[in-house]
Amino acid sequence: MRIFGKGFNFSQDGPGNRLVYHLSGCNMRCIWCSNPEGLNTKAGMEYSTEEILNECLRSKPMFFSGGGVTFTGGEATLQFDELLEVLNKLKYNGIHTCIETNGTGEHLTDILKFTDYLIMDFKHYDTNILKKYTNVGNETIRRNFEYICRSKRQLHIRIPLINGFNTQNPANFASYFSKFNTQNVVFEFLPYHEYGKDKWKTEYKVQNGFITDEILENFISTFKQYNLKLITT
Ligand code: SF4
Repeated sequence: MRIFGKGFNFSQDGPGNRLVYHLSGCNMRCIWCSNPEGLNTKAGMEYSTEEILNECLRSKPMFFSGGGVTFTGGEATLQFDELLEVLNKLKYNGIHTCIETNGTGEHLTDILKFTDYLIMDFKHYDTNILKKYTNVGNETIRRNFEYICRSKRQLHIRIPLINGFNTQNPANFASYFSKFNTQNVVFEFLPYHEYGKDKWKTEYKVQNGFITDEILENFISTFKQYNLKLITT
Protein backbone atom coordinates (compact mmCIF):
# COMPACT_ATOMS: atom_id res chain seq x y z
CA MET A 1 0.00 0.00 0.00
CA ARG A 2 1.50 3.33 -1.04
CA ILE A 3 1.07 6.14 1.49
CA PHE A 4 2.16 9.79 1.38
CA GLY A 5 1.03 10.87 4.83
CA LYS A 6 -0.30 9.53 8.11
CA GLY A 7 -1.13 10.84 11.56
CA PHE A 8 -3.77 11.09 14.26
CA ASN A 9 -6.62 13.54 14.34
CA PHE A 10 -9.75 13.87 16.42
CA SER A 11 -13.16 13.76 14.79
CA GLN A 12 -12.08 15.37 11.50
CA ASP A 13 -12.03 12.26 9.32
CA GLY A 14 -14.60 10.07 11.02
CA PRO A 15 -15.70 9.73 14.66
CA GLY A 16 -13.36 9.90 17.66
CA ASN A 17 -9.58 9.77 17.72
CA ARG A 18 -8.29 8.23 14.49
CA LEU A 19 -5.16 7.09 12.78
CA VAL A 20 -5.51 8.55 9.28
CA TYR A 21 -3.63 7.17 6.27
CA HIS A 22 -3.32 9.26 3.11
CA LEU A 23 -3.06 6.82 0.20
CA SER A 24 -1.05 7.96 -2.82
CA GLY A 25 -2.64 8.73 -6.16
CA CYS A 26 -5.87 10.33 -7.29
CA ASN A 27 -7.84 10.03 -10.52
CA MET A 28 -9.27 13.55 -10.11
CA ARG A 29 -7.41 16.83 -10.51
CA CYS A 30 -9.46 19.31 -8.52
CA ILE A 31 -7.87 22.67 -9.10
CA TRP A 32 -8.24 23.56 -5.38
CA CYS A 33 -6.75 20.27 -4.07
CA SER A 34 -4.96 20.83 -0.76
CA ASN A 35 -2.81 17.67 -1.13
CA PRO A 36 -1.24 18.01 -4.60
CA GLU A 37 1.90 16.27 -3.34
CA GLY A 38 -0.10 13.04 -3.07
CA LEU A 39 -1.82 12.97 -6.47
CA ASN A 40 0.85 10.92 -8.20
CA THR A 41 0.53 7.16 -7.60
CA LYS A 42 4.30 7.06 -6.97
CA ALA A 43 4.20 9.67 -4.19
CA GLY A 44 5.20 8.60 -0.69
CA MET A 45 6.38 5.20 0.47
CA GLU A 46 5.33 1.60 0.06
CA TYR A 47 4.15 -0.35 3.13
CA SER A 48 3.03 -3.95 3.26
CA THR A 49 -0.51 -4.60 4.43
CA GLU A 50 1.04 -6.47 7.40
CA GLU A 51 2.97 -3.34 8.41
CA ILE A 52 -0.20 -1.25 8.28
CA LEU A 53 -2.17 -3.80 10.22
CA ASN A 54 0.50 -4.11 12.92
CA GLU A 55 0.72 -0.33 13.28
CA CYS A 56 -3.05 -0.16 13.69
CA LEU A 57 -3.06 -2.94 16.26
CA ARG A 58 -0.31 -1.20 18.25
CA SER A 59 -2.35 2.03 18.11
CA LYS A 60 -5.54 0.47 19.48
CA PRO A 61 -5.32 2.25 22.88
CA MET A 62 -5.37 5.56 21.00
CA PHE A 63 -8.73 4.89 19.34
CA PHE A 64 -10.77 6.52 22.09
CA SER A 65 -14.18 8.18 21.81
CA GLY A 66 -15.31 5.71 19.14
CA GLY A 67 -12.18 6.22 17.04
CA GLY A 68 -10.30 3.88 14.75
CA VAL A 69 -8.59 3.97 11.37
CA THR A 70 -9.40 6.16 8.35
CA PHE A 71 -8.12 5.72 4.80
CA THR A 72 -8.20 8.85 2.69
CA GLY A 73 -6.04 10.25 -0.07
CA GLY A 74 -5.50 11.09 -2.75
CA GLU A 75 -8.17 8.57 -3.55
CA ALA A 76 -8.03 5.55 -1.27
CA THR A 77 -10.07 3.25 -3.52
CA LEU A 78 -7.44 3.36 -6.28
CA GLN A 79 -5.49 0.81 -4.20
CA PHE A 80 -8.55 -1.34 -4.00
CA ASP A 81 -7.08 -4.81 -3.38
CA GLU A 82 -4.77 -3.73 -0.55
CA LEU A 83 -7.48 -1.55 0.94
CA LEU A 84 -9.98 -4.40 0.95
CA GLU A 85 -7.45 -6.72 2.59
CA VAL A 86 -6.54 -4.25 5.35
CA LEU A 87 -10.17 -3.29 6.02
CA ASN A 88 -11.12 -6.93 6.30
CA LYS A 89 -8.33 -7.57 8.84
CA LEU A 90 -9.11 -4.44 10.83
CA LYS A 91 -12.73 -5.49 11.14
CA TYR A 92 -11.63 -9.00 12.15
CA ASN A 93 -9.62 -7.34 14.95
CA GLY A 94 -12.55 -5.23 16.07
CA ILE A 95 -11.19 -1.88 14.87
CA HIS A 96 -13.57 0.83 13.65
CA THR A 97 -12.93 1.68 9.96
CA CYS A 98 -13.64 4.78 7.90
CA ILE A 99 -13.08 5.58 4.22
CA GLU A 100 -12.98 9.08 2.84
CA THR A 101 -13.43 8.99 -0.93
CA ASN A 102 -14.14 11.21 -3.92
CA GLY A 103 -16.90 8.73 -4.81
CA THR A 104 -15.60 7.77 -8.25
CA GLY A 105 -14.60 4.21 -7.35
CA GLU A 106 -16.36 1.72 -9.63
CA HIS A 107 -16.14 -0.90 -6.86
CA LEU A 108 -16.71 1.39 -3.92
CA THR A 109 -19.79 -0.49 -2.84
CA ASP A 110 -17.76 -3.73 -2.55
CA ILE A 111 -15.84 -2.38 0.44
CA LEU A 112 -18.88 -1.16 2.33
CA LYS A 113 -19.27 -4.31 4.37
CA PHE A 114 -15.85 -3.67 5.92
CA THR A 115 -16.41 0.08 6.34
CA ASP A 116 -18.12 1.38 9.47
CA TYR A 117 -18.21 5.02 8.43
CA LEU A 118 -18.17 6.35 4.86
CA ILE A 119 -17.34 9.94 3.93
CA MET A 120 -17.89 10.78 0.26
CA ASP A 121 -17.40 14.02 -1.63
CA PHE A 122 -20.15 15.31 -3.87
CA LYS A 123 -18.65 18.33 -5.56
CA HIS A 124 -21.13 19.11 -8.32
CA TYR A 125 -24.50 17.91 -9.63
CA ASP A 126 -23.53 18.92 -13.21
CA THR A 127 -21.16 16.39 -14.76
CA ASN A 128 -19.78 18.79 -17.39
CA ILE A 129 -18.86 21.45 -14.86
CA LEU A 130 -17.32 18.86 -12.56
CA LYS A 131 -15.26 17.49 -15.42
CA LYS A 132 -14.07 20.95 -16.41
CA TYR A 133 -12.64 21.61 -12.92
CA THR A 134 -11.53 18.12 -11.88
CA ASN A 135 -11.06 16.09 -15.12
CA VAL A 136 -13.72 13.59 -14.01
CA GLY A 137 -17.51 13.62 -14.45
CA ASN A 138 -20.05 12.62 -11.81
CA GLU A 139 -21.76 9.56 -13.30
CA THR A 140 -20.13 7.02 -10.97
CA ILE A 141 -20.42 9.34 -7.98
CA ARG A 142 -24.15 9.61 -8.56
CA ARG A 143 -24.48 5.88 -9.05
CA ASN A 144 -22.64 5.22 -5.78
CA PHE A 145 -24.71 7.83 -3.92
CA GLU A 146 -27.98 6.40 -5.20
CA TYR A 147 -26.95 2.82 -4.38
CA ILE A 148 -25.99 3.77 -0.82
CA CYS A 149 -29.28 5.62 -0.32
CA ARG A 150 -31.19 2.56 -1.55
CA SER A 151 -29.25 0.35 0.84
CA LYS A 152 -30.12 2.77 3.70
CA ARG A 153 -26.64 2.63 5.13
CA GLN A 154 -24.86 5.51 6.85
CA LEU A 155 -23.26 8.10 4.57
CA HIS A 156 -21.53 11.41 5.24
CA ILE A 157 -21.51 13.64 2.16
CA ARG A 158 -19.02 16.50 1.98
CA ILE A 159 -19.58 19.39 -0.42
CA PRO A 160 -16.66 21.78 -0.89
CA LEU A 161 -18.10 25.23 -1.61
CA ILE A 162 -15.95 27.13 -4.06
CA ASN A 163 -16.91 30.48 -5.50
CA GLY A 164 -17.10 30.33 -9.29
CA PHE A 165 -17.47 26.54 -9.32
CA ASN A 166 -20.55 25.30 -7.47
CA THR A 167 -22.16 28.00 -5.31
CA GLN A 168 -24.81 29.44 -7.63
CA ASN A 169 -27.62 26.93 -7.22
CA PRO A 170 -27.95 25.27 -3.80
CA ALA A 171 -31.47 24.12 -4.75
CA ASN A 172 -30.06 22.06 -7.61
CA PHE A 173 -27.92 20.11 -5.13
CA ALA A 174 -30.74 19.77 -2.61
CA SER A 175 -33.41 18.76 -5.11
CA TYR A 176 -31.14 16.04 -6.51
CA PHE A 177 -30.35 14.62 -3.05
CA SER A 178 -33.95 14.77 -1.91
CA LYS A 179 -35.08 12.42 -4.69
CA PHE A 180 -33.47 9.57 -2.75
CA ASN A 181 -33.83 8.01 0.69
CA THR A 182 -31.48 10.17 2.78
CA GLN A 183 -32.68 9.01 6.20
CA ASN A 184 -29.12 7.86 7.06
CA VAL A 185 -27.26 10.54 5.12
CA VAL A 186 -25.72 13.68 6.63
CA PHE A 187 -24.38 16.61 4.62
CA GLU A 188 -21.46 18.86 5.44
CA PHE A 189 -20.34 22.04 3.66
CA LEU A 190 -16.64 22.76 3.41
CA PRO A 191 -16.10 26.43 2.57
CA TYR A 192 -13.12 27.07 0.32
CA HIS A 193 -9.71 27.48 1.94
CA GLU A 194 -6.22 27.89 0.54
CA TYR A 195 -4.27 25.45 2.72
CA GLY A 196 -2.78 23.78 -0.34
CA LYS A 197 -2.06 26.90 -2.38
CA ASP A 198 1.64 27.19 -1.52
CA LYS A 199 2.25 23.57 -2.45
CA TRP A 200 1.03 24.24 -6.02
CA LYS A 201 3.37 27.20 -6.39
CA THR A 202 2.65 29.01 -9.69
CA GLU A 203 0.31 26.29 -10.97
CA TYR A 204 -2.54 27.15 -8.60
CA LYS A 205 -5.52 28.10 -10.79
CA VAL A 206 -8.29 29.11 -8.35
CA GLN A 207 -9.03 32.81 -8.22
CA ASN A 208 -11.46 34.33 -5.73
CA GLY A 209 -12.58 30.94 -4.43
CA PHE A 210 -13.67 32.20 -1.00
CA ILE A 211 -17.39 32.24 -0.30
CA THR A 212 -19.39 34.82 1.65
CA ASP A 213 -21.40 34.11 4.81
CA GLU A 214 -24.55 34.72 2.75
CA ILE A 215 -23.68 31.92 0.34
CA LEU A 216 -23.10 29.48 3.19
CA GLU A 217 -26.32 30.52 4.91
CA ASN A 218 -28.18 30.12 1.64
CA PHE A 219 -26.91 26.54 1.32
CA ILE A 220 -27.82 25.79 4.94
CA SER A 221 -31.35 27.19 4.67
CA THR A 222 -31.97 25.52 1.30
CA PHE A 223 -30.89 22.10 2.55
CA LYS A 224 -33.07 22.56 5.65
CA GLN A 225 -36.06 23.37 3.43
CA TYR A 226 -35.50 20.05 1.70
CA ASN A 227 -35.26 18.24 5.08
CA LEU A 228 -31.64 17.23 4.51
CA LYS A 229 -29.63 16.68 7.69
CA LEU A 230 -26.57 18.90 8.18
CA ILE A 231 -23.49 18.38 10.31
CA THR A 232 -20.23 20.20 10.93
CA THR A 233 -17.00 18.52 11.97
S1 SF4 B 1 -10.47 14.25 -5.17
FE1 SF4 B 1 -9.47 15.04 -3.33
S2 SF4 B 1 -7.35 14.32 -3.46
FE2 SF4 B 1 -8.26 14.09 -5.51
S3 SF4 B 1 -7.70 15.96 -6.59
FE3 SF4 B 1 -9.72 16.28 -5.68
S4 SF4 B 1 -9.37 17.25 -3.70
FE4 SF4 B 1 -7.39 16.35 -4.40
